[in-house]
Amino acid sequence: MPHDDHIPALPDGADEILALLYHGEPVAKRGIADALHISAPTLNARLRLLEDAGLIVVAGHRQSTGGRRARTYTFNYRRRCAIGVTIRSTEIVCIAVGLDGTALDERHTTIAAHADAAFYGRAARIIDEFAEQVAAAGTPPLGVGLAVPRHINTASSLDYAAIGERITLPVTTTERYCAYAFAELRARPALRDAVCLFLGNHIGSAVLQGGLPHTGALEHMPLDPDGPRCECGGNGCLNVYCSSANLTEEGESLPGFFGVLEQGEVHHRDRMREWLRSLAQAIISIRAVFAADVLLCGPIAGFLDDAEIAQLDRLVAGHPAASRTAAGTGDDDAPPRIARGLCDVYQDAYGAAYAIVRDHLRELALLR
Ligand SMILES: [Zn+2]
Repeated sequence: MPHDDHIPALPDGADEILALLYHGEPVAKRGIADALHISAPTLNARLRLLEDAGLIVVAGHRQSTGGRRARTYTFNYRRRCAIGVTIRSTEIVCIAVGLDGTALDERHTTIAAHADAAFYGRAARIIDEFAEQVAAAGTPPLGVGLAVPRHINTASSLDYAAIGERITLPVTTTERYCAYAFAELRARPALRDAVCLFLGNHIGSAVLQGGLPHTGALEHMPLDPDGPRCECGGNGCLNVYCSSANLTEEGESLPGFFGVLEQGEVHHRDRMREWLRSLAQAIISIRAVFAADVLLCGPIAGFLDDAEIAQLDRLVAGHPAASRTAAGTGDDDAPPRIARGLCDVYQDAYGAAYAIVRDHLRELALLR
């Protein structure tokens, strides 16, 4: 992605001002000079350069000691944004994300996805129009992030490269479950190592190592080699036991299932217990090699209550291979946790945009 026009060359010392303003509250000149030990003339010159580059803006005025109101400066979180896109079977969702990770704008377009050139052209136009609208509102996009599924079953899959080449802005593709993980990273900036499990019609996974998401294939971990056939061609995969079809009855929705479960219906409780046991078994296997937090994402995770998460914890903790702490992580000896993730429906669109924002912030040396 061409970044030359995005990031101007900064003089020595300007980056520390930028970092101070990015990570903190708006600060007046006096506060910046005190925090960074720089003289007023040097500070003035650097602030002017940062302001001219659009990297910082005047935030407002603060009452100062002499009774005069001092200008405060802040990082310009609206200098740029990124557009994230997810294409579902009947809609295209575009989300614009600012440099502070805030969703600035969002557009949902109802359209049936088809693997043909006409659809690719229409999809690209929908994305282009949204990008133009966001730019016109004063926040030019850095690029477009496409959340791309990599299902084993590719029979009905779209040619994302064909869509990408029709889009005007530079395009970055992020695998769908990695995009979920990027969104989790925004919500939990300290997260380094974790496994994200997407729980829905399919199971999906991403593995976070050192704060970077990688596509996983944990959904095809065999829980029972003699179990039912999976779409991957294997037998008894996690994907076979923990997709939503294992909870819901024929024609039942997830809210419907969890509503009946709440009333204590015995068959629903049995199915829930089996489902939790299968998921716990998978987490035990994951923990045997990778002592990391497990974040549960996707539509099913959104319905799990604290008691069910606690039950998962108990099932996993009872297993010696899975109850170890992360070795070599230093001061933190706490056992890894199982937690609900964000569970946002369009988390992949958001995450595909945030991946671009994160790259940009890294280039500005504002993020590790
Ligand atoms: Zn499988």
